[in-house]
Amino acid sequence: MAEQVFVTLPNGVKRSVPKGMKLQELADEGAVAAQVNGSLVDLSQPIEKDGVVTFIPIHSRKGLEILRHSAGHVMAQAVKELFPSVKLTFGPSTDTWFYYDFDYDRPFTPQDLEKIGERVSEIIKEDSPFIRREVSKEEALKTFREMGESYKVEHLEDLPDRVSLYRQGSFLDLCEGPHLPSTGRIKAFKLLNVSGTYWRGDARNQVLQRIYGTAFPDAKGLEDYLLMLEEARKRDHRKLGRELDLFSIQDDAGPGLVIYHPKGAMLRTILEDFERKEHLKRGYQIVIGPTLLRLDLWKQSGHFENYRDKMYFTKVEDAEYGIKPMNCLAHMLIYKTQIRSYRDLPFRYFELGTVHRHEKSGELHGLLRVRGFTQDDAHILCRPDQLNDEICAIIEFVDDVMKIFGFEYEIELSTKPEKCIGSDEDWESATQALLQALKTKGLSFEINEGEGAFYGPKIDVKLKDALGRKWQCATIQADFAMPERFELTYVGSDGERHRPVMLHRVILGAMERFIGVLIEHYAGAFPVWLAPIQAILLTVTDRHIPYAERTYDSLVRKGIRVEKDFRNEKLGFKIREAQLQKIPYMLVIGDREEKEGTLSPRKRSGETMKSLRPEEFIAQVESEYPSL
Ligand SMILES: [Zn+2]
Ligand SMILES: [Zn+2]
Repeated sequence: MAEQVFVTLPNGVKRSVPKGMKLQELADEGAVAAQVNGSLVDLSQPIEKDGVVTFIPIHSRKGLEILRHSAGHVMAQAVKELFPSVKLTFGPSTDTWFYYDFDYDRPFTPQDLEKIGERVSEIIKEDSPFIRREVSKEEALKTFREMGESYKVEHLEDLPDRVSLYRQGSFLDLCEGPHLPSTGRIKAFKLLNVSGTYWRGDARNQVLQRIYGTAFPDAKGLEDYLLMLEEARKRDHRKLGRELDLFSIQDDAGPGLVIYHPKGAMLRTILEDFERKEHLKRGYQIVIGPTLLRLDLWKQSGHFENYRDKMYFTKVEDAEYGIKPMNCLAHMLIYKTQIRSYRDLPFRYFELGTVHRHEKSGELHGLLRVRGFTQDDAHILCRPDQLNDEICAIIEFVDDVMKIFGFEYEIELSTKPEKCIGSDEDWESATQALLQALKTKGLSFEINEGEGAFYGPKIDVKLKDALGRKWQCATIQADFAMPERFELTYVGSDGERHRPVMLHRVILGAMERFIGVLIEHYAGAFPVWLAPIQAILLTVTDRHIPYAERTYDSLVRKGIRVEKDFRNEKLGFKIREAQLQKIPYMLVIGDREEKEGTLSPRKRSGETMKSLRPEEFIAQVESEYPSL
């Protein structure tokens, strides 16, 4: 009888199976890969020793990512077959799309995409298995050198001594895996578009051609996704930002640097006022730190060592400075100006802090990925015994705020990355603190191994917008390392000095990003409380201007954000323009309104309301504010 090994399945059942049996034979229908003792592997992998096995269903987040990742290999195969002089680079994927970057002497055309798509369909029909082979780095280097794949060779230099190769049909790629069992598991796919990019995202490097695509386990999923994309295109915040005159990003002025126009600046001011009020209500203190700080401090904090690539530096009178990429430092410096007692803790320092980070030019994207942005940042310095309550309070804060904007959200916990500061013990207790708080609140969450910040593990909150897309907003990071590096202390009840814990947290995240998300979520039609312009006064004829001016004054004095359109144009024309600007209320003023001392509101949806006196209209607007 063959040697047996024990496999523990998720339902707790332990099964004895012959050593060397493939996972495939144990898998449930619909599984595309497996997790064995925590690592993701192909179903074709043999079971060599005792272990805990979970199967990854195709409809799970990981399953979809594996599907899309595998589709990326299939697309690369098609491209390589049709355009043999192409050089391969990489093909990352997420749970919504995949792309692959190619070095080719010209951009791909729509006709090329069509041909590539046809070839992809054929490869799917061939139902070729994805076959894994582990080899030494030497052997892989030799193979890819012979194939002339210079980018693979360059990438291999950074990899460990053993690597894995995958082959489907005649196509070979360097990849960690896992993949679908075979190409036939891709039931629906679509190549979405092609764009130019650079090797490793750096504008100084070779230009590459990036082809985006997506794949689904069924045709319906793809259909829904394509509809969503079409809607997303209409809502693109860069397009709406221009049409609604909210902001501009002018590449000759500086890529990734946002210029807020009056309406955009108003929107941001509304959000900032909202934030200040909400933070003061929850016991935070507002602080403001400088943009430049001496380089020595960035060395002390570990930023220089771990974050230098994303920082900007400058010199003032021979002294070196770093431009802040995060707001933590000044907050610690405030804490350090006095001796703190255990009775004074916690301190909750809040700053709408503007930071600058060097994002690669190839990765900049409208308001969503920028080089200068303002975070709603806070640092909480507390005693270890206060940590749970503080984290729970932040989670409640996030929940309150998400409800106000009407967002659902998901939670992820990210653990220790490779590059980090602090001891293993500190990492363990910080991770436990976050876990404990999530359990206290009874929240479900996913774990991202190795995705934490360099100074501590974190809780990430991803909101879901009106189109079901997920966006990173709040993060909560527990940090034992930075207080150590800056020798922060408080005097305990025992009269001894103790180390406080620091929580770094944001609620909305970067204001720029959040505004970008809001624009797309609301398709530019902001709710009344957020709308930069809440109402516009429209005169029927010039005769009505004096009364309209008086009405304007009375509304503005009550804090209504109102504009006037007293131009000598047809009313219908003025209404259409205001509708395009997505202004919530159009207030029409003609003979009857003047005689009755009223105004006639019309909603941007086209619905007309009965005439109201100005004070009734003000009450109507106020009733639409969320109760904060
Ligand atoms: Zn792969
Ligand atoms: Zn911080």
